[in-house]
Amino acid sequence: MTKNVLILPGDGIGPEITAEAVKVLNKLVETDGLDIAMEEDLVGGAAYDVHGVPLADETMDKAHNADAVLLGAVGGYKWESLDISVRPEKGLLRLRKEMGLFANLRPAVLFPQLASASTLKPEIVAGLDILIVRELTGGIYFGQPRGIRTLENGERQGYNTYVYSESEVKRIAHVAFQAAMKRNKKLTSVDKANVLEVTEMWREVVDEVAKEYPEVEVKHMYVDNAAMQLVLNPKQFDVMVTGNMFGDILSDEASMLTGSIGMLASASLDENNKGMYEPSHGSAPDIAGQNKANPLATILSAAMMLRYSLGREDLAVKIEDAISKVLDQGLRTGDIWSEGCTQVTCSEMGDAVVAAL
Ligand code: NAD
Repeated sequence: MTKNVLILPGDGIGPEITAEAVKVLNKLVETDGLDIAMEEDLVGGAAYDVHGVPLADETMDKAHNADAVLLGAVGGYKWESLDISVRPEKGLLRLRKEMGLFANLRPAVLFPQLASASTLKPEIVAGLDILIVRELTGGIYFGQPRGIRTLENGERQGYNTYVYSESEVKRIAHVAFQAAMKRNKKLTSVDKANVLEVTEMWREVVDEVAKEYPEVEVKHMYVDNAAMQLVLNPKQFDVMVTGNMFGDILSDEASMLTGSIGMLASASLDENNKGMYEPSHGSAPDIAGQNKANPLATILSAAMMLRYSLGREDLAVKIEDAISKVLDQGLRTGDIWSEGCTQVTCSEMGDAVVAAL
C-alpha cells in the first residue's frame, strides 16, 4: 500500500537540504519499488509569512494523516522579533506535541572517513555508531508542580518535579529494545538510581521489559558515569535509553563526538512508530540560499524514516552505504572538508548519493 510522506522544508537551508533528500527518495521510487507519495507544505517562518502562524491547521491535519513527516529546519533572523507565540519553533513544538512523539532517536554515527573531524583521537571514535533513545514528553521538563515561590522568610525558591509513570517508562523501553534488536542487541539504560527514586523505578521497569527481549544484553549505568564513558570509550555503547533531561544532555555530548553537525539525523516517534524525521542542526541562516549546506543529515533522516516508519530497512541500509561510498570518493561539503578532499555543493552531494545508489 502506498505510504504518505509529508515534506516540510521550513526555513533557511531547509528547502535546499530537503530537496536533496527528496531526490534520493525519488531515485528509490524509480529503482527499488519504494511505494510512497510525497506532498510538500509549509512550516516555521515560511508558514508564518503565508498564514500568520508557524503551522496552519490544515498542515497539522496533513501530518496526522501522513505515515511519516520529513522536516528540514525552522527559524531565521527575519522572524526573531515576532511574538513568542508565533515564532517558527512553535510550529515544530506543535507537531511534536499533537503527533504524540514521545521517543526521540538520535544516532551518533561517525563514518570512519570523517574520523579526523572529531575532537577526540581517531582511534577512539572511528566507526562510532551509538543510538540514543530519549524520552521526550515526560520527566522533569513537564512534571507538575513547578515554579518559583517565595518562602515565609522572603527567600525565593525554584522547584520542579521529576516524575515518570510506569507506562511512560515501559513504552520508551520497548522502543529502545526494538531498536537494539535491529542493531547489535546491546542496551544501556542510564539513570541515577542511587539518588533518585524515579529512576530506581525506571531501572525496575526496564528490567521487567527486558524479559520480553531475552536476546538483548542489558546494562544499567549512572548518568555521571555514562557522561564519562561516552568520552573515555564511546564504542562500548550500542543503544542507550534514558529520560528526557539526561537524554537531552547525553545526546548533545554524543553528537559532538562525531564533530560534524551536518551529518546528524534524528527521529521522533509515536506509539505506532509513526514519526517525524529531521536533521539535528538548525536552519543555518548564515549559509542559506548559497547551495553550501551539507544535505547528508537530512538524507540520513530519510533513511531513518525508511527504517522506523516505512518498514524498508533494506533501503535505509542502501542509503547509508551510498553515503559511505560518496565519502570514500573524497567528496565533502564545506563543513566536513579536509585537506586532499574535493569540495562539493549541496546539490552536487545529493547527486553523488543518487549516483552511488
Ligand atoms: P544551526 O544548527 O542552524 O547552525 C550552527 C552552525 O552550523 C552554523 O554556522 C551553520 O552554518 C552550521 N550548519 C548547520 N547545519 C549545517 C549543514 N547542514 N551544513 C553545513 N553547515 C551547517 O544553529 P543556530 O545558528 O544556533 O540556529 C540558526 C537558526 O536555526 C535559529 O533560528 C534557530 O532557532 C534555528 N534552529 C532550528 C532547529 C530546528 O529546526 N530543529 C534546531 C536548532 C536551531
